[in-house]
Amino acid sequence: MRSSAESLHRSSLGRGVALLIVALLAMAVIVALLAWRARATLDDLRRADRINTALPAMTLLMEDLLNAETGQRGYLLTQRASYLQPYRDAIRNLDRRVDDLFARDEDPAHAPKLARIRELVQLKMSEMNQTIRLHDSGRHEESLELVLGDQGLHHMDELRDVLGEMTSSLRAERGMISERLSREAGHTELLMLAGLAMLALFTVMATSQVLLRSRDLLRTQKRLRGIADNVPAMISHYDGKGHLRFANAEVGRVFHTHPDSLVGKTLEQMRGADSAEQMRPFVERVLKGEAVAFDAEQVIDGETLHFHQSLVPELVGGRVEGFYACSMDISGRKRAESVIAASERQMKAITDNLPVFICYIDAQRKLRYVNETLRNWFGLDPQAALGLHIDDVFGVASTSQRSAQLMLALGGERVEFEITSTMLGKQRHLRSIYAPDLGPDGRVLGIFTLSIDITVMKQAEAQLARLASSDALTGLPNRREFDQALEGALSRQRRHMREGRVLALLFLDIDRFKAINDTHGHGVGDTVLRDFATVLRRAVRGSDHVARIAGDEFVAVLEGLNRPEEAEQIAAKIVEAVRAAQPAGVAVTASIGIASVADGDVPAAELIALADRALYQAKHQGRDGWAALGWPGADQRR
Ligand code: GH3
Ligand code: MG
Repeated sequence: MRSSAESLHRSSLGRGVALLIVALLAMAVIVALLAWRARATLDDLRRADRINTALPAMTLLMEDLLNAETGQRGYLLTQRASYLQPYRDAIRNLDRRVDDLFARDEDPAHAPKLARIRELVQLKMSEMNQTIRLHDSGRHEESLELVLGDQGLHHMDELRDVLGEMTSSLRAERGMISERLSREAGHTELLMLAGLAMLALFTVMATSQVLLRSRDLLRTQKRLRGIADNVPAMISHYDGKGHLRFANAEVGRVFHTHPDSLVGKTLEQMRGADSAEQMRPFVERVLKGEAVAFDAEQVIDGETLHFHQSLVPELVGGRVEGFYACSMDISGRKRAESVIAASERQMKAITDNLPVFICYIDAQRKLRYVNETLRNWFGLDPQAALGLHIDDVFGVASTSQRSAQLMLALGGERVEFEITSTMLGKQRHLRSIYAPDLGPDGRVLGIFTLSIDITVMKQAEAQLARLASSDALTGLPNRREFDQALEGALSRQRRHMREGRVLALLFLDIDRFKAINDTHGHGVGDTVLRDFATVLRRAVRGSDHVARIAGDEFVAVLEGLNRPEEAEQIAAKIVEAVRAAQPAGVAVTASIGIASVADGDVPAAELIALADRALYQAKHQGRDGWAALGWPGADQRR
């Protein structure tokens, strides 16, 4: 933020300064020209001044000469001493006048003329002195002769001419100077105006450049502040001594003040000693040029807030000049995290105490979550198992037993199945659900597995099934079970008949059982029934199906007999065995009806009816025996 604004600022200033330098250089040239002009003008003015003083000096010299000559001549002609005074005054002045003229006209070009003037003045003065001396010594004629002589007149004329020439030359020079001065004045004015115009132009350009750039800079700063103020984070800038240089609106919002009022304050003044102390090691690191990030707590208005702090060094030419700080208020996130952590704890407490096995397996088949049941079922520490491959936790035998379901679930399908596994030597019957965990893009991130141990339920179920299909008194299968068993046997008989095998259905009924009950009581009757079942069970093959289908009625299905007579032999054996058994000391006999069939197409009901008919015959024939009927047709009796 600062670097771009600073570079803009520098470039704008650079342009402004460059323009000002150009303006100053131009001005320097103009000033040099003006100075050169002024010097020339000054020389001209000085010269004009000399001329102005030299001209009156010449006039005064001439006047004094004329006065001296007038005085000399008046004295010589009138002999009056009154004329002598002006003469003497003039003569006294003449030397001074000549020196004065020399002092005022230093023009080397005039030097020969001035020398001639001095010479002529000296000649004139000595001439006048000489005339006065001749006169005073009584030599009037000589003195008049000298006065009126050609030489004296000639000197005076020459002096007049020389002074006249010099006067007009000086006047001409003065005229030229004045003309030049007036001309130069116009040029200087123009030059000054041009200089001023140039200075004004360049100054305006430079100023406008600086103003323009300053405006851009202000705009940039405003824009940057706008951005910084709309960032939902505290952004600040500190100098190398830890004094705040910039803070955005969020800082002001958190500290309940205008951010500008915080400028110049230290971290300690703003955040308090504790927070400043907490930040100190990080500030030391950032001031060594390292970018640091950390989480920190701070109590503001009695409320503990959590901030994620990032400190970035401000490097200028490789040196750390300060640092930028960005603080994100993560209190909401922290609160949400603690709520999530609490709910995770609750979830864990629930899942750990459920008699179910829960785990989360990621796409790489590594265990990411598992509940306490792992310890109970597998004897493993849930914490230690996290991150391990399921093959390493459960064993390849166990995982390959479930590989199809794992494949389906990792492919995105919900799978529900039952499986029997041996864990720590204990066989468990499990009902498992594998549910895929889908990411927002539909990709499978992993699977949740839930396994319920239904061993007890299965056992109960089997028990119930047994109870539903067996007779409670004797433990033999009941009528319902018999019906199914007969159907199964008949369907097998369709195969066995091709081998010439025979199926026989035996209907057995205890003789005069009612009388046993009546005579010995129901308890004894029950014992007789139980013992009869045992006898029957023992008399047939283990694969043969026996059942109790009603009070004292029993059945036996004999499969795979070679001949129908084999059934009769077995029936005879049963009759004998019952008679011999004498349960509870009671003489018991039984009658048996045999229905045998060689093919498999006989309906069960008909075979049952045939056996029932045979039993009826056995009873009718005097009981304690058997009667056999074949299907269809053949019939035998004992
Ligand atoms: P039959 O020689 O003609 O078969 O004469 P029976 O007296 O045996 O006559 P039936 O077979 O009709 O009688 C069956 C008797 O079995 C009738 C009933 O009181 C008795 N009974 C039925 N179920 C039970 C039982 O569970 N226990 C006992 N003790 N008696 C039973
Ligand atoms: Mg009976």
